[in-house]
Amino acid sequence: MAEISAPRGVRDILPDESWKWAHVFRTIGETARNFGYSEVHLPIFEHTELFARGIGDTTDVVEKEMYTFTDKGGRSITLRPEATASMVRSYLEHRMDILPQPVKMWCTGPMFRYERPQKGRYRQFWQVDFESLGSPHPYADVEIIALSLEAFRRLGLTSLEVVINSVGCPACRPAYRKELSDYFASRSEELCGTCRDRLERNPLRILDCKREGCRKVTEDAPDVLGSLCEECREHFDSVRSGLDSLGAAYHIDKRLVRGLDYYTKTAYEVLSGALGSQNAVCGGGRYDNLAEAIGGPPVPGVGFAAGVDRIVMVMEQEGCSFGPEPLIDVFGVALDEPSRTELFRLVDALRRAGISADMDYGKRSMKAQMKSASSRKARFACIIGESEVAAGTVVVKNLQDGEQREIPVSDAPLDIRTQLLSTRKG
Ligand code: ATP
Ligand code: MG
Repeated sequence: MAEISAPRGVRDILPDESWKWAHVFRTIGETARNFGYSEVHLPIFEHTELFARGIGDTTDVVEKEMYTFTDKGGRSITLRPEATASMVRSYLEHRMDILPQPVKMWCTGPMFRYERPQKGRYRQFWQVDFESLGSPHPYADVEIIALSLEAFRRLGLTSLEVVINSVGCPACRPAYRKELSDYFASRSEELCGTCRDRLERNPLRILDCKREGCRKVTEDAPDVLGSLCEECREHFDSVRSGLDSLGAAYHIDKRLVRGLDYYTKTAYEVLSGALGSQNAVCGGGRYDNLAEAIGGPPVPGVGFAAGVDRIVMVMEQEGCSFGPEPLIDVFGVALDEPSRTELFRLVDALRRAGISADMDYGKRSMKAQMKSASSRKARFACIIGESEVAAGTVVVKNLQDGEQREIPVSDAPLDIRTQLLSTRKG
């Protein structure tokens, strides 16, 4: 074992898994294009202030989970724990408000949170993040939810549950907040220490506590939907009827909240029955006051983030297809040293012709090389020895049916390509 291992909570995604990830990214990228979202690449670190203001400094993420350090110029920098705040920053910084609205963007990459590592929970994990910025329309919310569900459908995920809720807006939330904190205060002795602290600062977040005792108390908590203002109620009804019109199934979960003032109206999550306690594959919602919270003009927005590590995990558990495993088409076998140069030229020609080809460079027996060909699951072996070099030929062996033919070496790329195409079609 290497003396230095990866830090706790981070991991290497190796070839046996990375091809599955590529399938997930490809599928989500195609879905993005169908829904009119353009890909952007955003920085992995930002000024700490962006997250403190854009996620909220009473959240677990900002209070406990950020990787923050001072750079050599004395600035406080944070490795991004999520992408929404960066997306909104980018929209404001590049004056995207003068473009046709909404501006629809997505990105993917690693996120960093100092959490207790466990199954489905890492300190570096990947998200795909979608944001629709500039439209207050409830159909923008429906589109975001529909997009996430379509991506999951294409990936073959079943047993998903969609939960939605409304968290109101600064007009109706204060009254609800008061009602909620009065209720929790009346049962404060049943709450955990953290939630008792939250009573004053952020009673909505008590609804989100995963501890058994607190969950029991929240069962009888006043319902946010009962205190929505007219605008929020209408918005929620339109989101629901929009989802209904698309045939999307969902449940309402009145405990689903974002505790901060810039999260408004719609909140939603997609849960997987296959995941156990880390059961959320995706979370999102509307944040009409976030742009202002980070110092910009008001910009309505809605989006979601989905965890790629968890998506792959659920797909594996459910036996979903990741598409064809990328195998090699041709493995080259040299029967002696002088032939190896000829074989190397052939392998190079095959690669240039779009055929995946490989060979050994070490002095190994024919048997050992054929073994490599089969362990790499190559479709064909191309065998060259002294007599083939002299005749300008190569022996092409089909490793599936054992049939072999000797053909001019210059014909090999076209010949193999044709055979690969005909069997792929069949
Ligand atoms: P959880 O309740 O599981 O902590 P969250 O509410 O913190 O999730 P979000 O901030 O909404 O999660 O992020 C969106 C998605 O990113 C989650 O639904 C999940 O799939 C994924 N995710 C979040 N944190 C982690 C992590 N530490 N490791 C792996 N995936 C994660
Ligand atoms: Mg979390």
